[in-house]
Amino acid sequence: MNIILFGPPGCGKGTQSKRLVAERGWVQLSTGDMLRHARAAGTELGQRVAAIMDGGNLVSDAIVIELIEERLPEAEAAGGAIFDGFPRTVAQAQALDQLLLDRGTKVDSVVELKVNDEELVQRLVKRAEEEGRPDDTEDVIRKRLEVYYGQTAPLIPFFADQGKVKAVDGMGSMDEVAAGIAAALEEK
Ligand code: AMP
Repeated sequence: MNIILFGPPGCGKGTQSKRLVAERGWVQLSTGDMLRHARAAGTELGQRVAAIMDGGNLVSDAIVIELIEERLPEAEAAGGAIFDGFPRTVAQAQALDQLLLDRGTKVDSVVELKVNDEELVQRLVKRAEEEGRPDDTEDVIRKRLEVYYGQTAPLIPFFADQGKVKAVDGMGSMDEVAAGIAAALEEK
């Protein structure tokens, strides 16, 4: 099973991915987490992407595609991949389709978590207080939402053309959203 949890920053992708990992034993493939780990480890890649991330911009497609490719065997062995924060551009989505095709699989579902902008900004500001992520300042949050609507939201029609998009209300409690995702994954 390969599912994409899709939506703007702050919509709950990370939280809900972790629940799916705990409940179903699937593997969360979060390119944001992978990049943050590279930075924390002080690798050359981490140094290269730091300023781009802190400005709220997207790192290059080639970098994130390679990070994802390295982790696909592990997800396959676990029986499921939850793509969280990837793909974020049409080029990344096309690359993912091809990578999965090469392995004899495909994207099964794209779960779109719908949350309004006001709620997103509130959640991200709260996360900034709790976690201190350098890209959770108000200016950068606004930039990240702009990048989302400009470069990432166009993926919805891309996947809708393949009949894969399932919209889920992301405004409820964590349990309500988790139930919405479970129901969406049951749909054919
Ligand atoms: P996230 O934790 O998913 O919000 O990602 C944090 C930051 O990492 C983003 O604002 C981008 O700078 C970078 N990033 C994460 N995933 C991607 C991706 N798929 N494509 C490009 N940049 C990414």
